[in-house]
Amino acid sequence: MRPDLFASLISGPCSAETRSQVLQTAEGLQGLPLSYFRAGIWKPRTQPGAFEGIGDEGLKWLQEVRTRFGFKICTEVATAEHVRAAVAHQLDMVWIGARSTVNPFTVQEIAEALQGTGIPVMVKNPINPDLKLWLGAIERLERHDVKVIGAIHRGFSVYQKTKYRNNPHWQIAIDLKQARPDIPLVMDPSHIGGRAALIAPLAQQALDLHYDGLMIETHCDPSIALTDAKQQITPTTLSELLHNLEPRSKSDQLLSELSELRDKLSLVDDGLVELLQERMELSKEIGYLKRNHNSPILQVQRWEETLKSTVEKALNAGISQEFAELFIKMLHEESIRIQLALLSDQPDAN
Ligand code: PEP
Ligand code: MN
Repeated sequence: MRPDLFASLISGPCSAETRSQVLQTAEGLQGLPLSYFRAGIWKPRTQPGAFEGIGDEGLKWLQEVRTRFGFKICTEVATAEHVRAAVAHQLDMVWIGARSTVNPFTVQEIAEALQGTGIPVMVKNPINPDLKLWLGAIERLERHDVKVIGAIHRGFSVYQKTKYRNNPHWQIAIDLKQARPDIPLVMDPSHIGGRAALIAPLAQQALDLHYDGLMIETHCDPSIALTDAKQQITPTTLSELLHNLEPRSKSDQLLSELSELRDKLSLVDDGLVELLQERMELSKEIGYLKRNHNSPILQVQRWEETLKSTVEKALNAGISQEFAELFIKMLHEESIRIQLALLSDQPDAN
C-alpha cells in the first residue's frame, strides 16, 4: 500500500482463537503498514453457545505479537472488566463495538473504567442508523477525558437483507465527519460486506470517499475461523488488495468542473426549499379555508387524482416512479399534518 493512501490500517483476526493462529496471522501481516494489530478477545455473539472468545489468555498472545513483530495491539471492550484486563496487559488501543455504542449505560461504564488510563479508543457506529447515538458515545467518552482517536463505520442492521451483511450508510458517515472533522473516520469493509468478495470494492470506496483508514479482518486460514469465517481474508489477500487500490485522479480540471456543478446543485437545492416553503404556505391557507367551512381535511378522490397525475408528469420527466411516489406522499403527509394542527387549534402550525 502506498503509505499516503490511508492514515491508518488496522488488521488481524476477528477473534483470537489459539496462540499459533494469532502469531501466524501477525507473521503474515509483517511488512504491511499496520497502525494496529487487532483481535477480538471477548466476542459478542448473536446466538448463545457459539464461541464467545478466548478471554484474558488471548491478551498474552497479543502482547507476544507486539514483542515479536512490533505492532501496536488492540481489542474490543464491552464492560469495565474488559477495560481493566486490557489496561493490565498494556494494550495500545481499544475499540467499542456496535452492540455497545448503541447502549448509553454500557458506554458510560466503559468511559468510567477508561478514565485516567490514557488508552485511546475507537468507536464503531451503533447497530441502528442513529447519528446522535454515535456522536453521543464519542462525547460521553470525551467527558471522561478519554482520547477518541477514530470512529469506525461498520454498517447498520436492517431487517430486509441486502447484498451487505450490515448496510453501509454513507450519508451518516459523511454527517459524522462534518460534525466531528477532528475525528478520523475509518471504514470496516469486513463487517459491512460480510463476504470476502466485497472487501476490495468497499476498500476502494473508502478511498474514493476519503476515509482516513481501514479496519480489515485477516486470518491465517479463514476457512477454519471460529467467527466471521466468510468475511476474513488471508494476510496475502490483504496485501494484494491494498496494492490494487487506485487513487482517483484529482486533476485541477476535474476539481474545477466539480465545483461548478456543485454550485449549480446548491442553487437548485435553495430553489427547492423556497418551493417547499411556498407549498406549505398554500397548504396552510387551504387548511384555514377548510376549517372555516367545516370541510373534511382529506378528500380521497382528489388525493388519488393528484398522486396519479403528478407521478405521470414525473415519469415523463425521467424521474423514477418509486422516488416520485415517495416524495409526493411525503409532501401530502406533511400538508395533512399542518392542516390537522390548525384544526386542533394549535397556535403555530409549523
Ligand atoms: C469485530 O470487530 O469483530 C466486531 C464484533 O465488530 P462489530 O462491533 O462491528 O460487530
Ligand atoms: Mn468480526
